[in-house]
Amino acid sequence: MFPEKTMAWGKARSCIRELAEYGWKRKAEIGAENVYDFSLGNPSIPAPDCVNEAIADLIRGDSVALHGYTTAAGLPSLRQRIAADYKERFGVELDPDRMYVTCGAAAGLAISLRALLMPGEEVVALAPFFPEYRVFVEAAGGVLVTAPPAMPDFQPDFAALAACLTEKTKAIVVNSPNNPSGVVLTEESLRKLADTLRSHEKKTGNAVYLICDEPYRELVYDGVEVPSVFRYYDDTILCYSFSKSLSIPGERIGYVAVGPKAKDGAEIYAGILGAGRALGYVNPPSLFQRVIERCLGATADVSKYRENRDLLLGALREMGYECVEPQGAFYLFVKAPEADAKAFSERAKRHELLLVPSDDFGVKGYVRIAYCVSKDMISRSLPAFRALMAEYRI
Ligand code: PLP
Repeated sequence: MFPEKTMAWGKARSCIRELAEYGWKRKAEIGAENVYDFSLGNPSIPAPDCVNEAIADLIRGDSVALHGYTTAAGLPSLRQRIAADYKERFGVELDPDRMYVTCGAAAGLAISLRALLMPGEEVVALAPFFPEYRVFVEAAGGVLVTAPPAMPDFQPDFAALAACLTEKTKAIVVNSPNNPSGVVLTEESLRKLADTLRSHEKKTGNAVYLICDEPYRELVYDGVEVPSVFRYYDDTILCYSFSKSLSIPGERIGYVAVGPKAKDGAEIYAGILGAGRALGYVNPPSLFQRVIERCLGATADVSKYRENRDLLLGALREMGYECVEPQGAFYLFVKAPEADAKAFSERAKRHELLLVPSDDFGVKGYVRIAYCVSKDMISRSLPAFRALMAEYRI
């Protein structure tokens, strides 16, 4: 006998991976240049020079120290620098001793949920959400509850959110800039979110922890800013990743920061250390901890993503596609011209367009287009998008 749920996660691939794998097969059949693969959120622009320069410099030093274990929570010097950088940028003082350097945001989320949840407790995810949340929540013994967004701007629907909060709610996960919608939570939304959670606490006596998943924090356009959630709500746990901002997703580096004023912060941090041990995530990559120390504040050239967004958004709207207005990340969320997003995605495949149906993101009737691809591929794909829409006009 083996754990059924764990096996099920292994057998049922995410809709994103499934489509990407279809894409790899299809490219082998008809040539990569003939497939318009918008399935994966894999950065397509190079890491900034400081990353390779730091690696080159570091490998000339003491190899034993460089490749050895660090402290479980990550180098104290790195945590101090992250806190100093955060203070400079957001004016909020984080405590390096309540920070845990992790293997990307995925590990940060898995650890935080494991630290917070008692069996059967609920975690509300604001839809649309990263499908892996369901796995992380269930693996931590919790139950994922989906709160639908407000249309048409995809900010939270606060009445719907309040209706999702119960005696069992322990946490809420928010992701801004959002995968898959590209929407950035406004200051007004954050204030209302904080008020909603505080009034729930007043009513029930239960604190709801806000897990803020921010791997796209630096990928914003049109002068939009991502406010620091700690300013609005004390019981916040930030899960950050350098995967997208530095274009290094394969290197697995990010951090968790427990809010300096979070209720029971010491216990939660102890739980984070414990969850890191229990899940085997102690000591994120040693080389990359040191690279990050040297590259804090740098980003890849995200202007390339903005150019892609502008090209795709302008062209698709002109063809009649309804798109959610994206201010960040590198995704476009497009309303399927038929009710069934999976059927639309299948139809798109016949035009060699790989678009991820929205069902696993907790919303029906949309597809996600990851535009972290070459501008050339976007330009070449436009006739296929036009032909696809023409099928609905007959
Ligand atoms: N959260 C969201 C919303 C994501 O889109 C991703 C990756 O695409 C992750 C978390 C995981 O990121 P990481 O590579 O840092 O583990």
